Amino acid sequence: MSREATPIYYCPFCAEEDLRPVEEPQGAWRCGACARVFSVQLARVDTTRIPGRIAEAEALQQESRP
Ligand SMILES: [Zn+2]
Repeated sequence: MSREATPIYYCPFCAEEDLRPVEEPQGAWRCGACARVFSVQLARVDTTRIPGRIAEAEALQQESRP
């Protein structure tokens, strides 16, 4: 998975859109409205909750029903 900065459109603290990337820490953003410097990290992708997989699991269950 990429270590590049994820594009962020809204400040998670004040919801303003005036965000600029900062050099340190790498991948962080500075909010022009509330001056907070923050970063957002992806913890994981819950593959059991991807809609395509849910639909696939449902189709498999229907096939196995008598
Ligand atoms: Zn803010």
